[in-house]
Amino acid sequence: MKALESTGRLRELLAGYFRELDRASRERSPRIAWCSSVGPAELLVSLGFAVYYPENHAAMLGAVRKAAQTIPAALAAGFSPDVCSYLTSDIGAFLRRETPLAQAYPGIAAVPRPDVLVYNNVQCRDIQDWFAWYGRELGVPVLGVAAPRHVSVVTPEWLAGLAGQLRGLVAPLEAIAGRRFDLDLLKSVLATSRRGSEAWRRVLEANRAVPAPMSFFDAVNQMAPAVVLRGRPDVSVYYDALLRELEGRIARGEGAVEGERFRFYWEGMPIWGRLRSLADFFIGLRTSIAASTYAHSWVFEGGEEPDPFLAMARNAAGLFIARDDDFKLSYLRDMASRFGLHGFLFHDAKTCPFNSNNRYGLPGRLEKATGLPVLTIHGDVNDLGCFAEERTRTAVEAFIERLEGA
Ligand code: SF4
Repeated sequence: MKALESTGRLRELLAGYFRELDRASRERSPRIAWCSSVGPAELLVSLGFAVYYPENHAAMLGAVRKAAQTIPAALAAGFSPDVCSYLTSDIGAFLRRETPLAQAYPGIAAVPRPDVLVYNNVQCRDIQDWFAWYGRELGVPVLGVAAPRHVSVVTPEWLAGLAGQLRGLVAPLEAIAGRRFDLDLLKSVLATSRRGSEAWRRVLEANRAVPAPMSFFDAVNQMAPAVVLRGRPDVSVYYDALLRELEGRIARGEGAVEGERFRFYWEGMPIWGRLRSLADFFIGLRTSIAASTYAHSWVFEGGEEPDPFLAMARNAAGLFIARDDDFKLSYLRDMASRFGLHGFLFHDAKTCPFNSNNRYGLPGRLEKATGLPVLTIHGDVNDLGCFAEERTRTAVEAFIERLEGA
């Protein structure tokens, strides 16, 4: 993989973020909230919480290939091997008192201790059970909102219901934060968050260029600020600089994959423990993964909604994962034409049915609607026991041969 120069700055940003959290944990100030990836982060930031994301920690466990050691500890504690392997890797690591943060950032010994856990279950039930486990284990309050899933049309009632639940979080969070809620401050944090999200969108859109200046395997690392620094001004500053770097590559006709022949879409979760080997494999095939649902999921649609609670509700409502297959089909069809794709790869992640969209016939409908071929890869987010790499490589090679012969 051709390294992006911006990655040095990305490492600094993330190091600063994790060290701030560690300091807050040791000094017990500011208060710390654990938040689900699409939970109400801006509300927490506006109330002065330092915000930590267990899903990001789980992805790190997958990426550094520690999950194989930590998952069994969660299974021994009673979780099924079929539930989310983010959950089992993370809880297993907690039970074994391990964290990849300790290797990445010397001096950090443990994940930050929470004062409250806050989730939005729009993505799945596992996130709720995951947070509930920590709530019981640590004796910490768990607050959450329940959102509809598999939605065809986002109605005003849908939004109003979720906005009402989000408003209901304010009083208990004020009590934990020890500070009064400030509506104007929330609006300002949301505006900052929106600028970050828009900047991330522009970065992803740069990949419409042929050849694509960045691969999916870069994007899943580059998306970290959009996930963990939501509501902070450094996000848009970072992505504006990254965009300039990508525009430089575009101007020079330089792609992430030299001699790009084919452009694919990655639908579903990454396989964190195999990012590097898959990136090299696709480079060898001169095939770029130019776009993905996963990286685009952190482009939020709340827009200019004047009521900040409605804006947060709309951010959740707009998520691909929350929508029905008709919406997904039209979204993917649009991506195919905008990114000039030659085919789709669907990742069926064994322990994440919510982000595995191959299971109800969508690939066949998509092939019919776009005329583009679809290949389903069987694997998992973190449980590499579910991923047969050699078989997958053979299937992808055959898929590409089909395209070459077309
Ligand atoms: S969406 Fe999938 S990976 Fe994410 S928490 Fe839910 S089950 Fe786990």
